[in-house]
Parts: sequence; structure tokens; C-alpha cells
Amino acid sequence: AGAEVAGLVHALLRDVPDFPQPGIVFKDIAPLLADGAAFGAAMAALATFAAGVDAVDVVAGVEARGFVVAGALAHRLGCGLVPVRKAGKLPPPTIRRGYELEYGTAEIEVPVGLLSGKRVLLVDDVLATGGTMLAAAGLIAEAGGTVTGLAVLLELGFLNGRERLGTAAPVHALLRI
Ligand code: AMP
Repeated sequence: AGAEVAGLVHALLRDVPDFPQPGIVFKDIAPLLADGAAFGAAMAALATFAAGVDAVDVVAGVEARGFVVAGALAHRLGCGLVPVRKAGKLPPPTIRRGYELEYGTAEIEVPVGLLSGKRVLLVDDVLATGGTMLAAAGLIAEAGGTVTGLAVLLELGFLNGRERLGTAAPVHALLRI
């Protein structure tokens, strides 16, 4: 089943050269989301991963494409959902963390109060350098949550994000390239 889902993700990924900046190959997951059977198979595979991790109370998704994964998965698991947002979007109180991108810097925030004591499955669409997931996991811990697993649709293995995450929690990608 793992190879089948990986094949689906591979078949429905669209490479967009030089977007959003020259030199970046953007991995567009929109065709996967637009295909009901494939989207369903992807969420089923992530649910199987979630069933194998310690336990999950809430799914945390990173804005914006991570919200789509988190919403579908949380609904499927019967879990709650907590958004990890770009700085300035969430009403207070929040905690914020900055991190390095391939080009430039970014800041993300999580709500204070919704993560305390929660076992959290952190999800996004793409794991690239790992900076986003690392910052998000740090914020979740700072907010009193425990990251019990991390999952993405696609991992860009050559960027070594998984190594950078250096987490003891299991990390799962439906497809690694
Ligand atoms: P990183 O922090 O480098 O792991 O980047 C991960 C975040 O940036 C995710 O939220 C992705 O949606 C986005 N991202 C980074 N690189 C790409 C890429 N090549 N294609 C699509 N999304 C990307």
C-alpha cells in the first residue's frame, strides 16, 4: 500500500521550475488534492501512520497547504486541529518563532492554550530543509504540547530536512524524492 500511495503522489505532483523564485522547483500538490480517489488514499495512508504513533489528540497543520492535510486527517482520525500560522494572522495570545528559509527568513505562530498537555501530530505538504517543521515543533513544545509524529505528503530527501529535525518522534513521508 505504501508503494501504491507513493506512486499516486508521484504521478500527481507537478514540478514548476523557477517558482516562486528563480532556481526553486516548486512541487505543486494541487493535482493530488483535486483527485478525490488519490486525496482519499493519501489521507488513508497518513491515518495508518497516525495509528502507529504513540497517540494523537490534535493534528497541527502549517499554513497554508498543511491546513488542507491537517483538516482532512483530523476529521478522519476524530482528532482536533490546531493551526500553525504565519506571524500576524492569529489573534492573541500566541507565541512566535523565526526561522531561516532557503531564501530569507519567516516567522510562524501558534495559539497559546490549545496545545498544553496535547499529543500532537504535526503535518505539512512538503518537507524541504526542515526549517518550518523544526520551528513548528519547537513552538508546540514551548506551548506545552508533545509532538508524537510528523508527516508530510512529500519529502525532498536531498535537502536533509529529516536529519535537521533530529526528532525522536517518527517522521513519515508518503513519497521521498
Ligand atoms: P522547509 O522549511 O525548507 O522544510 O520548507 C517547507 C515549507 O515550504 C512547506 O510549508 C512547503 O509548503 C514549502 N516548500 C518548500 N520548498 C518547497 C518546494 N520545492 N515546493 C513546494 N513547497 C515547498
